[in-house]
Amino acid sequence: MLATASFDQVLIGGLGHPYDDLIAARLESQGASSKTLGEFDADALARGRRVLPKGQCAPALYTTGALLRAASQAHASDTLAFVSPQSCGPCRYALFADAWRRSLRRSRVANVTVLGLDHSPESLPAFIDSELGQHVVQCLAIGDALTATFRRLLPLAERLEQLEGSYRNAARDIAKSIAAGATPFAALHEARSWHREVAFRHGEISARVGLVGDPWALHVDGDGQVNAPRRLALLGIETVVPPSLLWLAYQLWLAPLEWGQQRASREVEKAADTQLHRLQDALATAHRAAEIPDQPIPAVAELARLASPFIAPTLRGGYGFIEVGLALRYAMHDAMDGVLSLKSFGCVPSVGVSDAVMPSALRGAVPFLSIEVTGDPSATRESRLMLFAANAIDHRARSGARAELALHAPELR
Ligand code: SF4
Repeated sequence: MLATASFDQVLIGGLGHPYDDLIAARLESQGASSKTLGEFDADALARGRRVLPKGQCAPALYTTGALLRAASQAHASDTLAFVSPQSCGPCRYALFADAWRRSLRRSRVANVTVLGLDHSPESLPAFIDSELGQHVVQCLAIGDALTATFRRLLPLAERLEQLEGSYRNAARDIAKSIAAGATPFAALHEARSWHREVAFRHGEISARVGLVGDPWALHVDGDGQVNAPRRLALLGIETVVPPSLLWLAYQLWLAPLEWGQQRASREVEKAADTQLHRLQDALATAHRAAEIPDQPIPAVAELARLASPFIAPTLRGGYGFIEVGLALRYAMHDAMDGVLSLKSFGCVPSVGVSDAVMPSALRGAVPFLSIEVTGDPSATRESRLMLFAANAIDHRARSGARAELALHAPELR
C-alpha cells in the first residue's frame, strides 16, 4: 500500500465520479481517512486558471483547482496526501505533479504531499501486480460496469433526473460497502438492481454514438466531458464510451516497446501479458456482478492494426492510435451512427489526431464531430453538438432500423 499512514487525510482525484469515490472507499477500508477532490466543475477550472500559466491542458487546470479547493477546506493543522495519476495519457506534454506542487507553494498551502501514481508503461506491470494496483483495477472495473449500465439506460429514462439520482445513490452505497470492508465486486452485486424503481419508456433509441478523445475527457463525468452523454440522451441517443481499463491495457501494450531490443523486453512482454489478462478478468467479473452482458476491453492489437494506415502505432501522446482505431471500429464493426471526439482544452496530441487524422481515416463513413472542452464558448459547442446529433439520427434513419440496436430497458434488469 501507499505510505499514507502518517497523514491525517488522503485526497483522491484524477478520473472523477464514480472512479475516485470507489478508490477512496477502498483506501478507507484499509484504515486511511480518504476523500475525493469533488466535482471537476467551473469553480475548479477557474481556480486552476488563477494559479497555472497559460497553455495548460484541461485536466491540469481542473485537477489543480479542485486540489486547492479541497486543501483549503481541510483543517489548517491537518497533514494531507494527494494521490492521483500523474498525467492523463502516456503524455509528455503534461507534468501534473510539478504543476500541483508549484501551485500549492504559490497558494501557500503547505500541508499537502503529492504522491503521484506512476502508471508509465515501464512501471505499470509491477504496479498492477501490487496490492494497491489490484485495488485500483477492481475499482476501475466496477466503475466501468456501473457507468456502462447508466449510459445505456440514459436515453430510455422517462426523466433523466430520476435515473441520475438512482445512479448517484448506487455509487454512494457501493462506496459505503467497500469502505466497510466488502470487495468491490460484492458491493456492486449487492447494488445491481439500482435502476429498478426508475421509469423507462419502451421503444428504440434514436441513434448510437461512440465517444473518442484523450483519456481524461473520455472518462471524467460532467463539465470536463461537456455533459455529452446527457445532452445526447435528451434526444434519445445512446453514448458508448470505452472502459477506463482500456487506458491501462494500452499502456501495457506499450510496455515492451519501451525496452526496444533489450533482452529485458521479453520479460516485460510476459509481465504485461499477465496483467492484461488480469484486467480482462476484472472487467468480466464486474459485468457478472452487475448482471449485464460481458463487453471485453477492445483488443489494443486490433485497434493498432485498424489505425496503422493513418497513424504510426509507436507515436506517443494522449491516446495515440487508440482514438483512430476505436473510431474505425465504431464505424466498421459496431454499427454506430456517429463518432464524437472530445478533446481537452490544450490537448496537443488529441487535437492533432482529431483534426488531421480522423477525417481521412473515417472518410465520411459516419457523422464525425470533434469538440474542444473549455469553460467558455458553450453556445457554439451546443449548436455544433445539436447539428451532429441531427446527422447521427439521420444516418440511422437512412441505414434502416437495425434490430440489434433495439434496446429495451428490461433487458438490463
Ligand atoms: S493527453 Fe492531452 S489532456 Fe492528457 S495530459 Fe496530455 S496534453 Fe493533457
